[in-house]
Amino acid sequence: AAKSGGKNRVALYHPQLRANQLDLTRIATGLRHATQRQEFTLNYQPVIDLTNDAVIGVEALLRWTPSGGAPVSPADFIPLAEETGLIVPIGAWVLHQACVDARAWHERYGVGVAVNVSGRQLREPDFPETVLDALRRSGLPGSGLILEITETALVAAGAAETTSVIERLERLRQHGIRIAVDDFGTGYSSLSYLRQLPVDILKIDRAFTAVAGDTEQSAENAAFTRAILQLGHTLDLHTVAEGVETAEQAGALRQMDCRLAQGYHFARPMPAADLTRALASPASVRSGPAGPGPVDQG
Ligand code: C2E
Ligand code: MG
Ligand code: MG
Ligand code: MG
Repeated sequence: AAKSGGKNRVALYHPQLRANQLDLTRIATGLRHATQRQEFTLNYQPVIDLTNDAVIGVEALLRWTPSGGAPVSPADFIPLAEETGLIVPIGAWVLHQACVDARAWHERYGVGVAVNVSGRQLREPDFPETVLDALRRSGLPGSGLILEITETALVAAGAAETTSVIERLERLRQHGIRIAVDDFGTGYSSLSYLRQLPVDILKIDRAFTAVAGDTEQSAENAAFTRAILQLGHTLDLHTVAEGVETAEQAGALRQMDCRLAQGYHFARPMPAADLTRALASPASVRSGPAGPGPVDQG
């Protein structure tokens, strides 16, 4: 049918496109019931201090396995959850669960938890209440929580909305909660947003952290990473290199005086119980990708 319909109709009736649309509808329907069916879990990926290899924090990463089905990647279901608004209740669950899991880690080891927050959540007027409620119910102090926000999450908001988002973040910061800019360097207006935003941490996107080796690309990455580290230093922000996959990258980052890093080279995202064990015997956290360490479940 697509063929005989001429050029313009090819796109409309492309069988693959139709399959994708059905897929999205199926995912959206599944997402609606996923919370009550308890199909979500959180994995935690350590953030490492490169000066002593200690775990200084963790990032909570959402995992979804529909009952009887295969795991769905966050890259596929998060955008859909944002479009449908389902990210608001799902995100509230993430915040609460992450605070519950992190309470003991924070109490025993001073390890804080970073939670990813979508723009859609920030634009809810009662977002601060949702966050503070998660802290109250879990017993985690505000100093144990970091909110990770991408620049694009803010760009999507209009100017008036941006102002109220900034007010909300400032209010949360008064409770000791810290704000991280996620995927830093990939947005369009990094610097102007840095001036407006109440920020404590920059997370250098993994597009820039492949800094080792002799290629032109890695030299360019190294230049960008150095520039971001310098910016962080000037603005008195902590800087975390994301997506560090090899010992060579870790070494090169150490040479640049990059203090904090996260990536498969150090540890993969893992279930809470595995992280609890890893923190109790620190050597096992750094078993590396080839070691027998915990494997990301999704
Ligand atoms: P992100 O916040 O930038 O998280 C880092 C992503 O990089 C995670 O993917 C993590 O598993 C992956 N990663 C960690 N180390 C390495 C490495 O060495 N190499 C490579 N190639 N990847 C690495 P994941 O878990 O699939 O999450 C993807 C994105 O989905 C996240 O990016 C975040 O934007 C979003 N996301 C995940 N959980 C949540 C959540 O609870 N709420 C919201 N709103 N978004 C979430
Ligand atoms: Mg993140
Ligand atoms: Mg990131
Ligand atoms: Mg990301």
